[in-house]
Amino acid sequence: MVNTNSSFPQEELKSFKDISFKLGSNSHLVQAAGGNTSIKSDGRMLIKASGTWLINSLDKDIFVEVDLNSISKKINNGKEDNFIDDIISKNNLHPSSETSFHALINRKYVLHVHSTTTIANAISQSSESDLRKYLDEDFIFVPYCRPGFTLTMEIKKLILPSTNILVLENHGLIVAGDDIEDTYKLLLKIHEKLDLIRNEKLGLDFLEKITNIGGYIHKNTDKYKLFSTQNEKLFSLFSKSFYPDHVIFLGPGIPTFSEVKEANEFIQNLKRKNINLPPYLILKNKGLFENTLAIPAAKEMIDCFLEVLLRIDLSKSFKFLSSHQESELLNWDIEIYRQSIN
Ligand SMILES: [Zn+2]
Repeated sequence: MVNTNSSFPQEELKSFKDISFKLGSNSHLVQAAGGNTSIKSDGRMLIKASGTWLINSLDKDIFVEVDLNSISKKINNGKEDNFIDDIISKNNLHPSSETSFHALINRKYVLHVHSTTTIANAISQSSESDLRKYLDEDFIFVPYCRPGFTLTMEIKKLILPSTNILVLENHGLIVAGDDIEDTYKLLLKIHEKLDLIRNEKLGLDFLEKITNIGGYIHKNTDKYKLFSTQNEKLFSLFSKSFYPDHVIFLGPGIPTFSEVKEANEFIQNLKRKNINLPPYLILKNKGLFENTLAIPAAKEMIDCFLEVLLRIDLSKSFKFLSSHQESELLNWDIEIYRQSIN
């Protein structure tokens, strides 16, 4: 059942949900439960609920109404909160973990996406100056912070009353405005403008099928051929973490190996220790291997990673998430994990 969300005018609500659906249906903008949208009216905010997918905007109840004034007060006091006490809706949903920046940005509509082209241009040492060259728009560049309250506090330091575009380093894009159509168009314009590079030719054209990695399927199709690359720099990036959802759904870096034997030993070692197997492995010059148990969100996330890798300028020096940053996303110590699997 679709919630009627009575405190918002029906027409506004309909356009808002239509645009949320369009964003959620575009895998270059939103993958799995990533990305979120909000609309404000009369001291209230309707925001995507935590764990729900924007692609379900029209056919499921995925939004939750919250008390905007109460949340704004908490942000002004610098008080971290999950805003559970500020929920007005009665649909048992919890507001997105990114609710606080939606509340902070003083515009009727806030659209946040993990645009593959934005990410591809927001993960290098020179991202900010490059983006100033590529985009003839006024935007603020927000240094990487853990998503949630920490990120909102960083945005609070940088945001101006006129700000309607925010590029989040190693994360994505926020576009805000008072007209839903204009805000959506501006978001698409930025996403398209940043589609600058294709690294397609860096993959091997024919991938011989390798079947002997236990529990994994060799993705030897044209689509995934980039992972078979002989380019050393590109290969070195496969095991790095670039943005939060990458870590959450693919783990702290995709394990890469030179030989099938090493991959099989790694799997045996994890099984012996009762540690969950990662959804993907990469074998040098051979390509990508998918765990037969990989969940849909992991599959969306590997495609996102692929689209980002296809669009990065390999002459750049890249910024990755550190072990500490990976740990704070997963709530476990990555260094201890890395030692235990080696
Ligand atoms: Zn995000």
